[in-house]
Amino acid sequence: MAEQPVDKLTADQAAKQAATLRARLNQWRREYYDNDAPSVEDDVYDHDYERLIALERAYPQLVTADSPTRLVGGSVKAGFTKVQHEIPMLSLGDVFSQAELQEFNDRLVQNVGDPFDYNCELKIDGLALSLRYENGRLVQGSTRGNGSIGEDITENIMTIDSIPHQLTKPLTIDVRGECYMPKAAFAALNEKREAAGESVFANPRNAAAGSLRQLDSKVTAERQLSTFMYNVADYDVLTARTQSDMLEEFADLGFQINPDFQVAHSMSDVFDYIDRYQARRADLAYGIDGIVIKANPLPLQRQLGATVKVPRWAIAFKFPPDEQPTKLLDVEWTV
Ligand code: NAD
Repeated sequence: MAEQPVDKLTADQAAKQAATLRARLNQWRREYYDNDAPSVEDDVYDHDYERLIALERAYPQLVTADSPTRLVGGSVKAGFTKVQHEIPMLSLGDVFSQAELQEFNDRLVQNVGDPFDYNCELKIDGLALSLRYENGRLVQGSTRGNGSIGEDITENIMTIDSIPHQLTKPLTIDVRGECYMPKAAFAALNEKREAAGESVFANPRNAAAGSLRQLDSKVTAERQLSTFMYNVADYDVLTARTQSDMLEEFADLGFQINPDFQVAHSMSDVFDYIDRYQARRADLAYGIDGIVIKANPLPLQRQLGATVKVPRWAIAFKFPPDEQPTKLLDVEWTV
């Protein structure tokens, strides 16, 4: 059933649709973030999410505190100690077409005034984690959780090979990035689980999340997780002053970074990058669900800041789903 444009709805119809969408999206969020077991594909979630954004834009009075458009991630799993993130771990705004990406750029350029570069990165399909180092020594690992409070997963991250226990410099720093399960490890894990009559993971992202959020670190150790680090809570202790230099500095410090980043001097460079990696997606050893463009100067990132949910200096361009197009749920509006 085709959806009516939001501006054709009465206020009452819009309110009912928004309430239905909020309830459904929040249910899917619990399944995805809290239980690591989604019941629908991401594009189904994204479709409803975009509809809710459109409704809230047209009718701002419909925004509620529990709206998925204002919330990051999920809750802390029972058994884990909570970790407060002094600087929140946010989500990313997303766009689904080059036209929308161009609009994002145009708004930002107008806002900033001076020209600036973007750093293009692959959007790794995993889950965000934060690593705390004191005087160069790894002391804590945590999940993003709801952005402000995450789960303490220190013992688990100690088992991941790509995470250095000691940096090459004695820095005190919170470094952030993505924990992911390589495609081969995911296939092997699901095969093993199937043979043992256990439930299989829906995708590598959920497998990584389920493996990292384990109360027994021996299970995490067996799961062949890996990481790419790409962000920092506060860049002052680093030498780098651009996103791209920061990635190089992370590598020098001992972190694994994704080598396929690229500085773009124009939107045409950004579009070329998208085309290149959309074509190469299937050949990569890990899942990506899009690309992320980030204003390259770190002081500009700081100046632009963030909304309650997303940074203003970055955006994700989401790729269409990998496999067969997913059938969108038939929306049975009662209005
Ligand atoms: P997101 O995954 O769309 O984007 C933000 C995240 O991207 C960051 O937190 C970070 O973890 C990750 N990321 C990967 N590579 C990155 C890079 N190079 N730089 C910066 N960040 C990078 O946002 P989200 O809030 O984590 O999740 C929302 C998405 O999750 C939805 O769009 C939907 O696709 C999916 N989801 C699906 C369901 C479902 O039921 N299927 C439910 C909830 C959410």
